[in-house]
Order: sequence, then structure tokens, then C-alpha cells
Amino acid sequence: MSEVSTPGATATPAASAALRAVPRSGWHVATVAAARRETPNASRLELEVDGWPGNAAGQHLDVRLTAPDGYTATRSYSIASSGPGTRVTLAVDKLPDGEVSPYLVDEVRAGDMLEVHGPLGAFFVWAPVAETGDARPVQLIAGGSGVVPLFAMAQAHGDADDPVPFRLLYSARTPDDVYFAGELQRLVGASAPFRLDLVYTRRAPEGWRAPAARITRETLEAAVFPAAEQPRVYVCGSTGFVERVADWLVELGHDPRSIRTERYGGT
Ligand SMILES: Cc1cc2nc3c(=O)[nH]c(=O)nc-3n(C[C@H](O)[C@H](O)[C@H](O)COP(=O)(O)OP(=O)(O)OC[C@H]3O[C@@H](n4cnc5c(N)ncnc54)[C@H](O)[C@@H]3O)c2cc1C
Repeated sequence: MSEVSTPGATATPAASAALRAVPRSGWHVATVAAARRETPNASRLELEVDGWPGNAAGQHLDVRLTAPDGYTATRSYSIASSGPGTRVTLAVDKLPDGEVSPYLVDEVRAGDMLEVHGPLGAFFVWAPVAETGDARPVQLIAGGSGVVPLFAMAQAHGDADDPVPFRLLYSARTPDDVYFAGELQRLVGASAPFRLDLVYTRRAPEGWRAPAARITRETLEAAVFPAAEQPRVYVCGSTGFVERVADWLVELGHDPRSIRTERYGGT
């Protein structure tokens, strides 16, 4: 049995003292290989997962924290990486009143252990045209940390040098809140066709083409592949964001069967 120490106890039950990674059937023990700030409010965790079978781009896993008194808290997290191998990347946004995310963002250190279950989800996934034969363009639409599984897809698309046109429309609060900023810029310049459209909701960079504002139906329409091109669309973010965007896409003529959504909760 491995034990995780939690320096600086927090007020939440799951993270209030030492947490234990208790192997159970169907679960894996993950060692945190690296933990670093992704944005001022989020951390990127590199996990080395014993027995991990590899995962498709877009899948998620469950993280379970167990307190010494046996209290457990389980939350789902998308996987920012894909492919074979036992290394898994997560990126977690801190919800100030949350039970699990403040622990994962502020407390977890390299060498700590976590319990994870996965990979999970067979619907919100993407694979190269060479595997699927599906040559339709792909439109990714992310709100905040909802970019995590979409980044995995964009990265897999770049790694495979997949010829299918990809676009990512990504809504972030400010330039500092953009996840995977360097990697996304590199994908823009790579040979697999990839376009990145950023929308800032609270503060845009100086001289940016548009003032900070939430995505509207009009900005969505201007950025995404038109319905006539029959794109496959993946939308991920808070529940409110995903539902608004999915409604607009249908109003704009997109086939609901071509729209796949992942809701993170919240409003
Ligand atoms: C399939 C899936 C994949 C996910 N992937 C990621 C990921 O890659 N990165 C990531 O940071 N999160 C991800 N989430 C969200 C994550 O599972 C947790 O919900 C989140 O970390 C909050 O947990 P918490 O224990 O800190 O907050 P909780 O204690 O559960 O909630 C605290 C408060 O925040 C509200 N709330 C819960 N979730 C959200 C939300 N997403 N937005 C706004 N308010 C919310 C709750 O209603 C509650 O009022 C994913 C969720 C799902 C279902």
C-alpha cells in the first residue's frame, strides 16, 4: 500500500490529512512524475500509471482520493495525452470551493500517488482518417479546461500528420489562462492542417482583433466550419457553455448526429 502525504492540510474532508492510494480491482495506482503550474489557476500533472493500457484521444479517467477514515471523493478528468504507454497527462482547473480540484492543483507533488480508473469513454474520441476512413473536417470547441481532451485530439492529429482539416475555437478568460499555449502554437505551424481561434472573455491581449467577450452565436458562426462542409464537431466545457454552443450549432444547420459533447459540470 502506498501512502500520499498532503503537506498543508486543507479544509476539505478528502484532502484533510494523509491520503492513501489503496489498490482495488479495476483501479490503477499512479505515481505523479511531475506537477507544475499550467496557468495561474491550473496545474498539469504527469502520471506514471502502473498497468495503464494506453488511451484514445478524448478519453478520461476517474481519480479517487481516500482519507485515512475511509472517506473517498472521486472526480473525472480528461486525458491530455493519447496513445500506448503508461504516461498520462492531466490538466486540472481549481474551483475555489471545490473538494478535489484544490488538492490536485495546489497540494500534489512529484512522487505522490493517486488512484485512477480508466481509460473511460468510447464516444468522445478521435482517431486519424487512416484508422477510421472518415475524412470530414473536425471542429473542436472548448470552454476553459474543456480544452484538455480537444488538445489530445489536436496533438494526435499533428503526431499522425493527419490530412483532415482541424480547427479549434477556444474560449479562455485571459491570455494567461490558455492551457497548452506553446504546444497549440506549434500545432498551428505543423504540417497537419490546424487552425486556432482564441476568444477571450475577460481580458484580451493589447491590440487584439476583438474586445473581451463571451462567444456569441455570431462569433461561433464566423469561426467554425460551415454546416455545408459537414464537419464533425466536438464541444467540451462547463455544462452551460456546452449546451449553449450545441444549441447554436443546431440552429446554424449542423447535423446533431455530428456533434459530440462532454460536459464538465457547473453552469
Ligand atoms: C468527463 C469529465 C471530464 C472532466 N475533465 C476535467 C479536466 O480535464 N480538467 C478539469 O479541471 N476538470 C475536469 N472535469 C471536472 C471535474 O470532474 C470536477 O468536477 C472539478 O474538478 C470540480 O471538482 P471539485 O471536487 O473541486 O469541486 P466540487 O466540490 O465537486 O464542486 C464545487 C462547486 O463547483 C461546482 N462545479 C463542479 N464542477 C464544475 C465545473 N466544471 N465548472 C464550474 N463549476 C463546477 C459544483 O456545482 C459545486 O458548486 C471533468 C468532468 C467530467 C465529467
